[in-house]
Amino acid sequence: MVSDTHAGMEPVTELTAHRMGDVGRSGSVVVGVLALQGDFAEHAVALRRVGAEVHEVRTAEHLSRVDGLIIPGGESTTIARLMIAYELREPIIERGRAGLPIWGTCAGAILLAEEIVTLDRPGLHLVPMTVERNAFGRQIDSFEADVAPGELEGGPLHAIFIRAPRIRTVADGVDVLLRLGPEQEREPVAVQYGSLMATTFHPELTEDGRLHERFVGLCAEYAARVALQPGLAAAGGSG
Ligand code: GLN
Repeated sequence: MVSDTHAGMEPVTELTAHRMGDVGRSGSVVVGVLALQGDFAEHAVALRRVGAEVHEVRTAEHLSRVDGLIIPGGESTTIARLMIAYELREPIIERGRAGLPIWGTCAGAILLAEEIVTLDRPGLHLVPMTVERNAFGRQIDSFEADVAPGELEGGPLHAIFIRAPRIRTVADGVDVLLRLGPEQEREPVAVQYGSLMATTFHPELTEDGRLHERFVGLCAEYAARVALQPGLAAAGGSG
């Protein structure tokens, strides 16, 4: 086990472990949260609320032990710089390409994009979409909105956008989970590409656990695949 597990962390109960498939290498699904900058602590709380075990990720060694990774909101320029300084950028790219579920929220969504408008350092280029930073304009840097449930079950989802980016284009194969805005101009605010998810808002700041549940489900599926084919996680880049 990695040593930086949060103190006071709730153990995964038999019930939640069963619900999530009880398939991880440690007997439960271990979700990593990239803990270099930004609101990783809020994601950890939200993940525990839906029954996941959470590890903070600051090194490649930490990364090698998780069944999924959340890249939180914060400042994409800073996180991009720190990912390089902590020698995490290449390992994250390799594991993401090899099927590790990765979910980027806000700054994290920017970093996942193949093309980023106005980021002056390299991102991860994992999701074939174009994302523009700070694209809602100065006057409305931050706002809240009820987003139609789209691909999710249940009612509208309350979404908090903080100096949010906009997803300008998505390639074929990228599923749009949620859209914002009036009928004519409904733009993507949550997308999924295989096991990769990106949301331009902050689901970790509301009580609605639907997106965290969805992501933990992807992590459980991944952990089950790794259990059958251990080389998948160990090699990272073997595809
Ligand atoms: N504006 C920030 C950036 O470009 C993202 C904001 C956020 O993550 N809340 O990195």
